[in-house]
Formats: sequence, structure tokens, C-alpha cells
Amino acid sequence: MKIYRAYKFRLYPNIEQQILINKTIGSARYVYNYFLDRKDNYYKEIKENLSLKDIKHELVELKYNLSWLKEVDSMSLTNALDNLDKGYTNYFEKRAAHPVFKKKGCHDSYRTTCIRSEYKNNYYANIEVDLKNKTIKLPKLGIMPIRGYRHLEKQLNIKNATIEKIGLKYYVSLCCEEELEIKKHQITHAVGIDLGVSSLVTTSDGIKYPKLKIQRIEEHIKVYQERLSKCIKNSKNYQKLKNKITRLYQRIRNMRKFYIHEITNDLLKDNELIICETLKTKEMIEESSSKSLTKGIVNASFREIERQLDYKTKWNNKLLIKVNTYYPSSKLCNHCRTRNEVNDLSIRSFECKKCKCMNDRDVNASLNILEEGIKIAFNKGLIVV
Ligand SMILES: [Zn+2]
Repeated sequence: MKIYRAYKFRLYPNIEQQILINKTIGSARYVYNYFLDRKDNYYKEIKENLSLKDIKHELVELKYNLSWLKEVDSMSLTNALDNLDKGYTNYFEKRAAHPVFKKKGCHDSYRTTCIRSEYKNNYYANIEVDLKNKTIKLPKLGIMPIRGYRHLEKQLNIKNATIEKIGLKYYVSLCCEEELEIKKHQITHAVGIDLGVSSLVTTSDGIKYPKLKIQRIEEHIKVYQERLSKCIKNSKNYQKLKNKITRLYQRIRNMRKFYIHEITNDLLKDNELIICETLKTKEMIEESSSKSLTKGIVNASFREIERQLDYKTKWNNKLLIKVNTYYPSSKLCNHCRTRNEVNDLSIRSFECKKCKCMNDRDVNASLNILEEGIKIAFNKGLIVV
């Protein structure tokens, strides 16, 4: 089976390269927004979706009129159009909301495609990575240093590269094609996990991973945001503060990713079958406190756990089963199957009304999730005794 895997490196462009990257990001955004507007107006007048072929033709004309668009990597512009077309098609087929205009300073990135050619038995590619010397060659930009994946040695089959600017830092994400071998599942140990706010992850083995401690960073963000509100918009101080805030949010994101990698690696080390609940967005929001910052972070953590478990189980030939949301995992007593009405989410443990045993809310839930998941896996014939 062929899979796509992304490798993200920190990028160290020199001043000239930085200017060109910023220019390319800006041009890709301009082209995206220009043709989003164009498509909207076309639909209003003609009641038809302006096709990708048509907008690509129009891009050629646009480049003729706006010569600065010719200075940047042309793949970044056509890829922006591909994205726009995908977004628009999804909207047309009612799978997604209407695409929105891109703003400077949020998701600043562009994608370029790897093109290979052969000449007299010599092979060339416009994107090349040298893992030994830690450099990368990118179209129009040339060679620059990278950092990351110290022990990676394999040959990367690069399909495309996304160059991204976050705060003042630059990153490149290489999307590579890889061959994945599939074997039959042999289950020796399975685990159920419960996701929560006070304990981020609780396992059916009774292990609790507490939530990430980011209070101090949150306080810093609050202070900076208050100062920002008193600043004159777009002044030097305003920009400085804005960069500081972006960096702090980035730090939280990095900490979260790193912590969740630790958790999911632990889970995968000892188990062949992992069972979790499908994410329940509504309850997720209700359960977390009213502070919008915490809420966002908790929800993002849940999504990240699911994302990592999804791909890590696949890559390691292990199994991930998701139990449906309406399964009352936190209400059923795991010992006697009696349903207890515990609606107050602040109660961390409860006494079963029938068998009188004390249940830790999260551990009890993860045990129920484990049992339900094993049932599902058996019924689907995914595992054998
Ligand atoms: Zn009981």
C-alpha cells in the first residue's frame, strides 16, 4: 500500500531568500483571493462554476499584466488555484463551507511541486534534500540549511513541499510517498483510553496523563494582549507585541505536539489494539471551562491525539478502534454493568448504586471503552483469539 508521509524541517533562509519566500507567499495569496472573487462574480452572473482550466488560462493573462507575479515560483500560484478549486468544489457539493479570503499573518504558506527530469542518464529534481549535510534545494530559492530528523537516513521520494512562515520562523514540510507493508493483526494486549479535561488521557491500565501545564504562557499571552489593545494599530510596538503573541501560541502548539507524541508512543509500545471514543465536539466544548483559550487548547489536543493514533497505528501495523459517542462509557459501572446517572462532570469518582464499588470516573470509562472496542473488533472479524 502506498501512503503519504510528511517530514517537517526548520528552514534557515538568508535575507534574500526570506524576501523571496515572503513575496511568494504574498503572490500565492493574491492569486487565491483574486480568483475566489472572480469565481464568485462569475457564479453570480452566469450561475456556473468557473472551471480550473479557465482560471489557469486567466492566470497566464494576469501574469502578463502584473509582472511581479513572474518573479516567484510559478508552481506556488498554480497550486493556490488547485486549492481554491478543491475548496470551491467541496462547497458546491455541500461538503464544506464557502472558501474565505486569505489574510496576511494567518497560515502564511505556499506549496510547490517536485518535478523530475532525465537527461543523458543524469537525473534532476527541482526539490532535493541532503540529509547528510542538512541542506535543501528549493525552486527559485536555491540551497539553504535545514534542521530536524537527525537520524533519518532513507531516500525520500518527495512529491511536494510546503514552505511556511510562522511568526519569524520558516519551515518546510516535505510530502513523500512511501511503501507500507500490511501484516495480519496479532493482539496480545489492548488498551482503552478516555479523553478528558482534568486528565488528558486515562488508560484502562489505570495510567493517567495530566493536562499540559501552560498556565504561565497563558498569563503572558493575556498580558501581551491587553497591551496590544492599547497600542496604535500597525505601529512598531503593535507589530512587536503581535510577533511575541504568535511565538507564544507556537510554543504552546509545539509543547502540545511533543507531549502528545510521548503519550501516543507509550500507548503504541505496549499495545496492539487501541480503543478510543469518537470525538464528541459538543460535549468537548461543554465540559471544558468557559475560558475560550483553554477550550481551544483542549479541543486541539483531542484532535491531535486522534490524528497521531490514526497514522501511528497504521504505520506500525496496529489497530485503532473508535467507539461511538452515544455509548454511555462514563455511566456504566464496569463491575456489574449498572447504569448510574452521574451527570455532574466535576465529580471525579462515584459509588455504584448496585454493587457499591467505588469507580474512578475516567478509569471506569476507559475500561468500558476497552470492552466495547474489543466487542466491535471481534464482530468485524478484525481480531482472532
Ligand atoms: Zn456496580
